Amino acid sequence: MSDKKCTKCGAAVDAEEVKEYRGEELCEDCYLDVMSPTQVCDPWAVHTAKSLKDLPGGHDLTPVQQRLYDLVKERGEVPIPEACAHLGLSEDDLRREFAPLRHMEKLRGCKKDNIIQLTLF
Ligand SMILES: [Zn+2]
Repeated sequence: MSDKKCTKCGAAVDAEEVKEYRGEELCEDCYLDVMSPTQVCDPWAVHTAKSLKDLPGGHDLTPVQQRLYDLVKERGEVPIPEACAHLGLSEDDLRREFAPLRHMEKLRGCKKDNIIQLTLF
């Protein structure tokens, strides 16, 4: 049953899965997008991140982002709550760390059984 609409992309969203952000009702994807500091503050950061991703190493990850990336790389799929526990972060903090990784096309979130799994891009 979908009885809400994402105000950003118009996708149908289950009422209990709607994310509210600054008065908007967003789907998971758009929520992750708006939570991304790079996209909100500096559209060029995304461009830069994309052009950096082909460089060997691409040393533009924070230590936490590197640990998150390594964790997902090692396990293949990591549910968000498990990643939080592993890195000692709140879910909000984890999403903030995750957003740049997503824009760098290193990690992505994919939903399975109502839990968001982080996987390699
Ligand atoms: Zn949306």
